[in-house]
Amino acid sequence: MEFTTDDLKALFHRLAARMAAERDALCALDGLVGDGDHGIAMEQGMVAADAAVAGADGSLQDLFNAGAKGFLNAVGASSGPLYATAFLRAGKVAGPRPAMPRDDLRQIIAAMRDGVAQRGKAAPGMKTMLDAWHPAAEAALGGAAPDAITAAARDGAEATRTMVAAIGRSERLGARSLGHLDPGAVSAAMVIEDICRALRG
Ligand code: ADP
Ligand code: MG
Ligand code: MG
Repeated sequence: MEFTTDDLKALFHRLAARMAAERDALCALDGLVGDGDHGIAMEQGMVAADAAVAGADGSLQDLFNAGAKGFLNAVGASSGPLYATAFLRAGKVAGPRPAMPRDDLRQIIAAMRDGVAQRGKAAPGMKTMLDAWHPAAEAALGGAAPDAITAAARDGAEATRTMVAAIGRSERLGARSLGHLDPGAVSAAMVIEDICRALRG
């Protein structure tokens, strides 16, 4: 069965519910290395994206574009432009189609990784959300099973404990960021898990 605009609406709805449920945990993580607002940013962003996508008509690309705009307008934190760019890139891959093969979600994960990397000017190892997106994208493009892609994202997020922040708000902590998870990598692994659920069908 193909991945349709209804499936994409359902995905955004799940992402909004997931980020609402994880809000306090993500804020607590951000409190250790940042300014404590990451859970609020992700909840407000995904709830706004969900509402925009639910009210939008058109192709998969139209819906991704609506989600990007909704997310961007709702979020003042760094994650706003990063996810907005990721969703715009996802829309480019999906294109003006009403549906696509589920396997194209692999290219979508990779396009979201590329968007985050280019918008944030980050590289893997800098202790950012890219440390979850990058290994997941490589696994997705390499044909890994959905569970293995999710595991790659989680392992990547877990590995941020051993990294010193080299970009973003936590950079100023320097070596004091060691031992702590990057909140954006943790939330990214959750987003990737939900995309992989859709990939599974
Ligand atoms: P802010 O730091 O503005 O409060 P958030 O708390 O919403 O924004 O998001 C912080 C997360 O954003 C970090 O944990 C990190 O994963 C990610 N991040 C910050 N800067 C960058 C960047 N330049 N490239 C990629 N990810 C980044
Ligand atoms: Mg923050
Ligand atoms: Mg902030």
